[in-house]
Amino acid sequence: MATMITEECINCGACEPECPNTAIYAGGAQYEFEGQQFEALSNDFYYIVPEKCTECVGHYEQEQCAAVCPVDCCVPDPNHVETEEELFERAKKLHPDRVFPELSPATSHFRK
Ligand code: SF4
Ligand code: SF4
Repeated sequence: MATMITEECINCGACEPECPNTAIYAGGAQYEFEGQQFEALSNDFYYIVPEKCTECVGHYEQEQCAAVCPVDCCVPDPNHVETEEELFERAKKLHPDRVFPELSPATSHFRK
């Protein structure tokens, strides 16, 4: 499942640069997906684009946004439940030029 940001967000901006998939945007900022610009998903808080979030699968052992968020408001989104395989496929699609090694505990929170 993708990660989501709740209304407890204090707009500190710490999460945005940590995302390996540039899935996080400031409230009100348009987001980019597959070369196109889209309207913000939230005008008040930082938000995550579900189509760009892999729960950090393929990159890190845990969700980087959740790891840095000072108020623990980056949480699993119950409306976007996905398997590790789906998330890994997304990571590959988002980074077509990159060769990903097989998943391991270092690159998937599912392997912990
Ligand atoms: S879980 Fe990872 S991929 Fe998803 S928004 Fe957070 S940092 Fe980005
Ligand atoms: S780190 Fe947490 S509080 Fe800060 S902008 Fe991101 S979601 Fe909001």
